[in-house]
Parts: sequence; C-alpha cells; structure tokens
Amino acid sequence: MTGLRLEVDLDKIGHNARSLVDWAAASGISVTAVTKATLGDPVIARVLSSSGVVALADSRVENIERMRSARIVDPMWLIRSPAPSQVERVVQTGATSFNSESAVLAALSDAADGVGRVHGVVVMVELGDLRDGVMPAQLHETIVDVLRRPGLCLRGIGANLACRNGIEPSDANMGELSDLADSVEDRFGVELETVSGGNSANLAWLQDGGSARRVNNLRLGESILLGRDPLTSRPIPGLHADAIVLVAEVIESKRKPSKPWGHASRNAFGELSDVGDRGEIWQTILAAGRQDVASGDLVAPPGVTILGMSSDHLVAETGSQMAAGDELRFAPGYAALLRSMTSPFVQQRLATGEAHRSRTSPIDGAGGEATSTAPNRPGPALSLVPSLPPDAALS
Ligand SMILES: *Cc1c(COP(=O)(O)O)cnc(C)c1O
Repeated sequence: MTGLRLEVDLDKIGHNARSLVDWAAASGISVTAVTKATLGDPVIARVLSSSGVVALADSRVENIERMRSARIVDPMWLIRSPAPSQVERVVQTGATSFNSESAVLAALSDAADGVGRVHGVVVMVELGDLRDGVMPAQLHETIVDVLRRPGLCLRGIGANLACRNGIEPSDANMGELSDLADSVEDRFGVELETVSGGNSANLAWLQDGGSARRVNNLRLGESILLGRDPLTSRPIPGLHADAIVLVAEVIESKRKPSKPWGHASRNAFGELSDVGDRGEIWQTILAAGRQDVASGDLVAPPGVTILGMSSDHLVAETGSQMAAGDELRFAPGYAALLRSMTSPFVQQRLATGEAHRSRTSPIDGAGGEATSTAPNRPGPALSLVPSLPPDAALS
C-alpha cells in the first residue's frame, strides 16, 4: 500500500468538465479548462481536452511546455502575463497569452517576429479586484499597442475577479466588460473572438440569471476539479465534489488530554494555541504536514476533527483508537490541492472510477469512495444539472 497520496478520479473530472461545458453553452459561453492546480498533468489535461472545452489554460509556461511535450495540441492560453525573461519560451509553445503591460507586448512581438510567428494576445482589464489588468480608461491605448505590432494578433479581452480581494462578478462589472468589447470593436473595426469574463467565481453570477451579453468564455479550474463554488465553498449539485481525495496514513493514535500542559509560548509557526479542556480524547496523528498540504484547507471525513498541523504531522481527534497504517481520506480545498500537487512527498494516483473502486482501503468499507463533503456555509445554491439528485452525484 502506498502512503500519502492524492487519488484523482478521471471519470469524475471528465463528468464535471462536460457538465459545466454543457451548462455554460446554454448561455452562449465556452469553457477553457485551467490546469494550474494539476501542474499541467498530461493525463488530466487529456481528459479535459476531450470534454468539449475550447482551450486549456495555465498560469505557468513550464506547465504549458509540459503539456506540449506530451503532444497535447489543443489551443492553450497562458493566463498570467508572460515574464520578460520567458517571452521566447511563451512564443515557442504557440499559446495565446494574457497581457497588461506594454513592455511585455513589445518583447513578445519581437520574439514572435524573430521566429516568423504571430503571437495571440488577450488584453486583461482591471474591474475592481485589483490584481492584473489595464485600467478601463487605458484599454484603447493598449489595444493600439497590440494592433501596431507585427508579431502580435489581438484575440480578445478578459477580466479576472474574486481572486485577490474577493470582488464578486456582477451584472455591473460584466456589463462594463461587454461595453468595453463593443467600444473596442467600434473604434478599431476589429472583431474580438474572445471576451473572457472570469473564473469559477463567475458561475454563481451566471446561475443567478446574470446577463452574459458580450461575455462568451469562462476559465474554469476549481469548479471542474473540486466540484465546488469558490465563493461559498459549497459542492455544486450535479458535480462530483470528491474527484480528488487526499489519503493519509496513521502513525500514532493514543488516549491523551485535550489540553496541553506546561508554560505556553508561540508554536513553530509563530501561532499562539488556545485549546480548551475537553478531557481525554483519541488523538490520532497522520503522516502529512504543512509541507504537503495547506493547513486549514482540508475537510475531514465524518467523525474526524483536524486539531492542528505541523510541518510533518497532521493531528486529529478520532472517535476511537486507530491502528498505525490505517488511512483517512480528506477533501482538499484549492489551496490544499495546489500545495499537495507540488509536494514531492505526495504521490498521485490517477485512475478511472472503476480502478479506484477495485482497491479497498483498510478503514472505509465503501471501497475507496470518498465520504468527505465541503462545509455547509450560507449562500445561494448553485445547481448545474437539476436532473441529477445531489446525493447521488456527490456520493
Ligand atoms: C487560476 C485562474 C483561473 C481559474 O480559477 P478557478 O477559480 O480555479 O476557476 C482563471 N483565470 C485566471 C487568470 C487564473 O489565474
């Protein structure tokens, strides 16, 4: 039996991607699948590529190169501005890149020109979340900057919200993006093939009857991989919220007091602990830590409470004593997934649902099926596939 690992159910990821593609199509919106949380894993990328998405997108040129090396020929988007030191590599991949800086556009054009290529560009517009993008008042001058450069081809405009400051997509900011698309086309006589409105955080806006107007694309990562609405962390009915599960192994399980003793100072991470006395508990330690998973972003299976995490130990309270070697299955959030995918200590097991089901883990009789669900927080319920009862879809 292998140790700490992510189990990725490719069938469930395919189902999530296809469901979102079909659902968004009803509003005239195409889906671009974002692969950054999987580091551009070619096996997962192939599943996404055959689910009806129009392109694959990643924020790192390294991940795009990895997919290209695996001979994935789909249209690809680099959704973070290229760094000046990487423009040649970006051009080589044939990806369309998201841009907001004049000097980068100049470097991209030179690099493309130098190898006889034309590089596709989407110009990002700042709509209030204060991450990347040109201010709306400067959009026209940036468009001029793209149109006048021989090595560049304007593919569209885009925006990104709910990332740095959690600003929600709304008819107001999406309407502004649509107006900007119209104004660019009117003024320059061009046709914008792509008006990319945002990420998984845009799904709730669309579901609530948001008016897409010129917005004809969304870039989806978290909702495809984790089946959750990032604004509320709630599972999206009709999607699988357990397509990716983190499995960790027990290394100690003992009856211990719940309250530490001795003089308390800050812990190894500079945090003060404030633990009440609940008497003795079953304290179970799993071989996973902050090097492997983002602390605070894991949902434990029923009956298990995560008490804390050090670099290498995940300390949980369990209802009873567990044996060393027993396994527990956790649902990672997006931050936990990113960390786990990049930890050299976490193995990845990619398989179809059938293959996962054929392996039974020691502690869950469900035959390897995850039982974790995301916490219930208030917020509008997002439901993409009303015909699928949520319980069936999420089990
Ligand atoms: C990460 C990212 C996305 C995908 O966001 P999800 O919340 O995972 O859907 C989309 N666009 C940009 C620019 C990103 O950086």
